[in-house]
Amino acid sequence: MSISREMKPLIEKSIETGNLTREELVFLISRTEEDDFQAIINAGDEVRKRCVGSDVHIRGLIEFSNFCVKSCKYCGLRSPNAAIERYRIPPEEIVEIAQDLNRRGIKTAVLQSGEDPWYTQEIMCDIIRKIKSTTDMAVTLCIGERPFEDYQAFKDAGADRYLLRHETANPRLYKELHPDSDQNERLACLRELKRIGFQTGAGFMVGLPGQTYEDIADDILLLKEYDVDMAGIGPFIPHPDTPLSECPQGDLNLSLKAVALTRIVLRDALLPATTAMGSIDEFGREKALQAGANVVMPNYTPLKYRTFYEIYPNKRCINEDPGICDGCMRGRILSIGRTISTDRGDSPKKLRAKTSI
Ligand code: SAH
Ligand code: SF4
Repeated sequence: MSISREMKPLIEKSIETGNLTREELVFLISRTEEDDFQAIINAGDEVRKRCVGSDVHIRGLIEFSNFCVKSCKYCGLRSPNAAIERYRIPPEEIVEIAQDLNRRGIKTAVLQSGEDPWYTQEIMCDIIRKIKSTTDMAVTLCIGERPFEDYQAFKDAGADRYLLRHETANPRLYKELHPDSDQNERLACLRELKRIGFQTGAGFMVGLPGQTYEDIADDILLLKEYDVDMAGIGPFIPHPDTPLSECPQGDLNLSLKAVALTRIVLRDALLPATTAMGSIDEFGREKALQAGANVVMPNYTPLKYRTFYEIYPNKRCINEDPGICDGCMRGRILSIGRTISTDRGDSPKKLRAKTSI
């Protein structure tokens, strides 16, 4: 492999410290030459190996409601989209699905939905308490922006982690894509979640219309600034029933570089190989795992609901039975020589904080 001369010291720095400047990140993200690309991916994989080892953590994803009050321009669940059939999984059934995950040996339930106020603070707390008192699982919430009192109540009820992607660090682009959401408010939510003590995840889409390499560098630096425990990164995929239907989808290799560089900069964060990666490429998730990712989130939404959770089209595994997904995902992890974690896969930051007290 012959990488360009300017690349060599940057790759070394990437592996040794990850302290890359904005300019250096932009330079690396913009490399498209095959050998340069591969060197970045390999560096991400090397840092993953050194900082978090070979284990891949499995999270069971439950998409429990596709109702949403928001109008994010990229998302098929946006409230103005009248073309999708909406569903809500009853609270009791959500708890049962989580208990089933527990029986399968999965140690984290991720409860995801559109922004749906039908699930009030009380209802959510009840679901969380029931899961926590009948299983030994971690509960991760991914339900958008809520009043700060709700976040505190969810934590008090026993929720462990919260995912709230920042979507894009660029204020102008954020404004353009979110007619009814304010970037400062979203970032304030992230800070509050951290303050309350959630293991907190942010993240962004790659290939949003109008996004530049500089924006992606800023996305990665924002993750560093917010000292996140987790970061979800995936390509933008246009949905036909949204205002962005005609925009091109995010590039796989650019998304993989973003994952690798995020690993390089954040060192020991939990990085999922996202479903969106797997949706634009048959082996997108394996490729992400070999670029620095160490988490997968197989879908355990019951089949009768799953097809309606269409954030973007052609989502991976839309017709697979949860049992099949389970085996398939484990097979994919083992096929690339990785191991499957048997613990809850908590944030290394949290574990460090515990041992230092
Ligand atoms: N309503 C919650 C969680 C569900 S949406 C929230 O918005 O936080 C989960 C993620 O899906 C979003 O954070 C966004 O990054 C991603 N997403 C939405 N539409 C997408 C699209 N068209 N392509 C790729 N990812 C998309
Ligand atoms: Fe709703 Fe989340 Fe989709 Fe925005 S990204 S429309 S908040 S489900």
